[in-house]
Amino acid sequence: MHELSIAIAVVEAVDELARRHDADAVDEVRLRVGELAGVEPDALDFAFEVAREGTLLSTARFTVERVAAVVRCAPCAVEFHPGTPPNLLCPQCDGGSVEVLAGRELELAGVGFPAPDHHDEEVTADVPGR
Ligand SMILES: [Zn+2]
Repeated sequence: MHELSIAIAVVEAVDELARRHDADAVDEVRLRVGELAGVEPDALDFAFEVAREGTLLSTARFTVERVAAVVRCAPCAVEFHPGTPPNLLCPQCDGGSVEVLAGRELELAGVGFPAPDHHDEEVTADVPGR
């Protein structure tokens, strides 16, 4: 399954990032996935659940930001949304010579680590005015 290899690559990259930041857990992972990236969001969710088991990401919130596709016709410069499934023929000239401006993204958009716990310092603070 294509989505599983993506999920494994994401988990490995985030795990390495967490270690480099001395974090012992990951709170949040955000991915940006374009409409034309060829990734099924539900399948990716499921693959992520499998791939992160036993890693620093095991309790992380996983969110996928979908990026709408935008393509531009090369000859007449019309920009249009190709729809689902994508129709890459220009609505104005019927030409198929298009440039993809957005929608191929498959990237890490953000990673959140737990905030450091300062609880101990607060508990041992002196109480003034006694
Ligand atoms: Zn055109």
